[in-house]
Amino acid sequence: MQHYPLEAYGELAAGVPQVLFSAQTIEERVRELGAAIARDYAGRNPLLVGVLKGVFIFMADLYRAVTIPAEVDFIAISSYSPETRERGMVRLVKDLEISLTGRHVLFIEDMIDTGLTLHYLLGILQARRPASLEVCVLFDKTRRRLIDIPIKYRGFELPDRFVVGYGLDHREQYRNLPCVGLLKPEVFQGKE
Ligand code: 5GP
Ligand code: MG
Repeated sequence: MQHYPLEAYGELAAGVPQVLFSAQTIEERVRELGAAIARDYAGRNPLLVGVLKGVFIFMADLYRAVTIPAEVDFIAISSYSPETRERGMVRLVKDLEISLTGRHVLFIEDMIDTGLTLHYLLGILQARRPASLEVCVLFDKTRRRLIDIPIKYRGFELPDRFVVGYGLDHREQYRNLPCVGLLKPEVFQGKE
């Protein structure tokens, strides 16, 4: 796919002086993940479930790279408060539209950090009795993990730094950058 050059993003590109993963690097890895999923789930009509909003760009590319019959659905969540957020507790603000019962469900996440959010959400999905439930994450901050979660498909490992782009935001900005990089400290100032 032809991506806009980074210079086209002017002010946004200036906020991300250090690119960790180029658009092309991401695209190649997403295709590999898609090919592995297509192979493993052939004949099982998997349901790809993502959490909005961060995952929407990854999901769009991954879903097209999964070259077998497959379905897609989304949930949206919000944290109750900073304290409950620390324990990974979240509120569903938009539920799935497709039933999980008896389905082969692949949970798709843009980023796994402590793992608390993912752990909590997997509990909710598991209670709906899918035939199988596996996890695919694009970026993994392995060193920050507080809860062990089996991850079947992993895109890249990330250092413990705050990144933006390819769907990942800082205060709702930078999601449209096609690459992923470190946010300039002046913009970031420790606030996510
Ligand atoms: P955790 O695994 O700690 O429960 O939370 C993971 C969530 O934190 C991700 O889905 C993402 O929304 C957010 N997050 C963690 N690290 C980063 C990062 O480096 N950049 C951005 N934009 N979001 C992050
Ligand atoms: Mg976020």
